[in-house]
Amino acid sequence: MLSPLALPRRYLVGFDARELPHHFTDVLIVGGGIAGLRAALGIPDEFRALVLTKDEVRESNSHYAQGGIAGVMDPNDSFDNHIADTLTAGKGLCDPEVVEMVVREAPDRIHELISWGTHFDQVDGRMSLGREGGHSHARIAHAMGDETGREIMRAMIHQARSRKSIRIWQNCSTIDLLTHDGRCRGVLVWDKRRGFALVWSRAVVLATGGAGQLYRETTNPPIATADGHAMAYRAGVELRDMEFMQFHPTVLYMAGSARHLLTEALRGEGAYLRDRDGYRFMPEYHPLAELAPRDDVSLAIAHQMAKTRHPNVYLDLSHLDPELIRHRFPSIDRLCQSFDLDITRDLIPVCPGAHYMIGGVTVDDLGRSSLPGLWAAGEVSSSGLHGANRLASNSLLEGLVYGARVAENIVRTLDEAGAWRLEVPPVSARATATRDNRARIDLDDLRKSLRALMWRRMGITRDAEGLKEAAVQVDHWCRYVLPQVFDDPAGWAMQNMLITARLMIAAAAERRESRGTHSRVDFPEADPAQNRHITLHYPPIWPPEPNRERAARSENRLS
Ligand SMILES: Cc1cc2nc3c(=O)[nH]c(=O)nc-3n(C[C@H](O)[C@H](O)[C@H](O)COP(=O)(O)OP(=O)(O)OC[C@H]3O[C@@H](n4cnc5c(N)ncnc54)[C@H](O)[C@@H]3O)c2cc1C
Repeated sequence: MLSPLALPRRYLVGFDARELPHHFTDVLIVGGGIAGLRAALGIPDEFRALVLTKDEVRESNSHYAQGGIAGVMDPNDSFDNHIADTLTAGKGLCDPEVVEMVVREAPDRIHELISWGTHFDQVDGRMSLGREGGHSHARIAHAMGDETGREIMRAMIHQARSRKSIRIWQNCSTIDLLTHDGRCRGVLVWDKRRGFALVWSRAVVLATGGAGQLYRETTNPPIATADGHAMAYRAGVELRDMEFMQFHPTVLYMAGSARHLLTEALRGEGAYLRDRDGYRFMPEYHPLAELAPRDDVSLAIAHQMAKTRHPNVYLDLSHLDPELIRHRFPSIDRLCQSFDLDITRDLIPVCPGAHYMIGGVTVDDLGRSSLPGLWAAGEVSSSGLHGANRLASNSLLEGLVYGARVAENIVRTLDEAGAWRLEVPPVSARATATRDNRARIDLDDLRKSLRALMWRRMGITRDAEGLKEAAVQVDHWCRYVLPQVFDDPAGWAMQNMLITARLMIAAAAERRESRGTHSRVDFPEADPAQNRHITLHYPPIWPPEPNRERAARSENRLS
C-alpha cells in the first residue's frame, strides 16, 4: 500500500474569524451546476438558500453536456432494462438499490425539467429519444440537438433567478469547509470584490463537479479542478472509488483546438471508428462494436492507437444521411467546420480524454456525507449509481435525483431542528508558509506537468511501476507546494489538484485488478475478491453517523 497523503494543515489559508466579514444563510450550496441548482430549487421559500459558483453560473460541466439525460420515457422500454444496463456498465460495484431508486425517479425529474421550461427535442409531437453506448434502448432525452446541457441549465438558472429566496454569488471561490465540534458549519470564501469572508449555514451542500482538469486530455471546462474533493478530504470527510476516472472515447484531436467532446450519440446514430489505415476496428474488440460501453471503447482505441503508432483514430459519418447528421448535431457541425472539416464527408480525428470523475464524497441515499451538516450531490459525490463505470447520460440524471433528495432531507432536518440560532463557532486557523516559495513556483508549468503525468501514468491503462513513479513525483510537488499560502484561486486550485491527484493514485495502486474504467496492465482481469470500494479519509475522521452501515461494509480503508 502506498503511503497516504500527509497534509501540512487543515485550511489552505490562515484566517481569524474576528477579522473577517460574516454572512449567514439557512442552506449553502457550493456549486451551481445541475446538482447544485436542483438542490437550491428544492428549498422552499421560507428558507434562504445561497449558491456559490467560482466562475459565472453558466460555466459548469452541466452546461456542456451534449448527448442528453437518460430515462425510461418510451412504452417499449422498461425500468428493468435501464437498471440492467446501469448494473452491467458498473461492473459489480453499483449499489443495486441506488440504481433502482435513480432509474425509477428519472421520468419525474425529466417532466419536472419540462415544467421549468426545458424544451427537449421532439419528433411527431413526441419526445425524440437517442441511443448511446451501453443502453439497450433509445432512452436519451436531448435538447437543441447536441446542446442538452445548455438548454437544461438555461431553464434552471432562469427558475433559480426568479426565486427570491435563492441568491447566487458568482465568481466566488470556496476555499474550505468550516468544521467545528464534528459538524460542517459553513465555508471560507474569497472573491475579487469582497476578499475573504466566512459564510455560516445550517446545512452545507457540496456540488462542485468533477476533476477532468487533472488530465492533459479532457472534455471538462477549466472549473473542473476537483476543489470539492480536496476540501472534503481536508475536512476529514470519507471519499471513495477515487481510482475510477471515466475517459470519453471521442474527443476532437486537432492541433490548436481545445479538446471538444464529440458525443457518443454520433456512434448511436451509426458513426464508425476507423484507425489511420481506414480499418474499422471496434467489431474486433467488442460484440457491440462502436456501441460498447465507454470503458471498452476507450481501451480499444488506446490499443489501436498503440498498435498503429498513431496519436489518434477517426470518426467516420460519411455513410450516414448528411441532412440528418447536420440537423441532429448542429454544434459539432459548426465546431468541425471551424477546423475545415466536413462531418458528413471527412474523417474526424479523435482520441480519448478524461471525462467524468466517478469517485468522490461517499453519500447515502439521502445525499448525506460522513460529516454531519454536509451533504453532497452530482459529480463530486459517490452515490453508488455508477459503480466502476458510468453508463452514458446517467450523470445529469444523478445530479437531478440527488439534488432533489438532498434538498428534501435538509428541509426535513431544518424543520425537525425548529427555531435555531445560528452561532459563530470559534473557528480560526493559523497558516504561515514555512518558507515562502510562491514567487518561484510557476503554476502554469506545474499544472502542465501534473496533467501530463496523470495522462501518462494514471490514464486509460496503468501499472504498478507507473503508479509508483506518479506517487513519488506528486509527493515531491506536494512537499513544496502544499506548505505555501496562496492568495488567489489559481494557487488554491493547484493545491486541490495535487491533493486529489495523490488520492487517485493511492487508490489506483491499491486496486490490483482491472475493473470498469480502471485498467491495470499488470492485473488485466477482474478479481472477485476485490469487488469492494476503496475508501480514503484524512484523520481525524468524523464519526460516520449517517453512513455507519455503509462505512462498516467498506473494508478497504486507506488512512
Ligand atoms: C463536454 C461534456 C459533455 C457531457 N455530456 C453529458 C451528457 O450528455 N449526459 C450526461 O448525463 N452527462 C454528461 N456529462 C457529464 C455531466 O455534464 C456532469 O457530470 C454533470 O453536469 C455534473 O454536474 P454537477 O452539478 O455535479 O457539476 P458541474 O455542472 O460541473 O458544476 C460544478 C459547479 O461547482 C462550482 N465550483 C467548483 N469548485 C468551486 C469552488 N471552489 N468554489 C465555488 N464554486 C465551485 C462551479 O463553478 C460549478 O458551478 C458531460 C460532461 C462534459 C464535460
